[in-house]
Amino acid sequence: MKQFNFILFGPPGAGKGTQAKTISSKFGVVHLSTGDMIREAKDDPMFAKYLTSGQLVPDNVIVDMVVKRLQKDDCKNGFLLDGFPRTIFQAQELDKFLQQLNRKIAAVFYIDIAQEEVIKRLAGRRVCPSCGGSFNIDLKPPKQEGICDFCGAKLVQRKDDNPDTIKERLEVYEKQTKPLAEYYDKSGVVARIDGAVSPDKVFEQIEKFVNTNVK
Ligand code: AMP
Repeated sequence: MKQFNFILFGPPGAGKGTQAKTISSKFGVVHLSTGDMIREAKDDPMFAKYLTSGQLVPDNVIVDMVVKRLQKDDCKNGFLLDGFPRTIFQAQELDKFLQQLNRKIAAVFYIDIAQEEVIKRLAGRRVCPSCGGSFNIDLKPPKQEGICDFCGAKLVQRKDDNPDTIKERLEVYEKQTKPLAEYYDKSGVVARIDGAVSPDKVFEQIEKFVNTNVK
């Protein structure tokens, strides 16, 4: 049986959250977003600090969190990591952990998109704190201003979607995360996905890669 151990990779605002929902339901894998884990723990002042600054949570803290989560039963048939790894160290630790279990990464979906587009998407993003729905005031407005189409809750702007934090997050991505593309290129599992098209077209590229490359 195919085992889908996937990584979703790309800059903030590339549409990873939207793709993650589709990938998770179409391929039956559990969606693990480290950003969501950190936001859920935001009452801990240590995490709140990273969310407002756009800086990365220390490697050992996030690696521990992910390794514990990956040992749960729902990850046995596969997982989709979204927002992890974000540094070479995290990738190496993930490799070590998977090696012990005799498991491998089947695909890294690298959603590639220009920085100007990312800034537009992040600055206009509004999210639903209740069901996780995501909108954009310019590109994908909700039917009723400020209200979630799916559950009727009031939409909010993520704390880290303000101009200063966006700038910092993009810098952190360029310096610390982007080099991972090369790290994974060596293992031949990277699918470069054009992220500038509609969500359906992005998913089509992902599905095609899985159907032709994941054995
Ligand atoms: P995201 O929703 O993936 O953009 O993550 C939101 C924030 O959570 C990031 O700006 C970081 O502060 C933190 N975070 C999420 N994933 C990681 C990770 N793999 N390593 C370090 N920090 C992370």
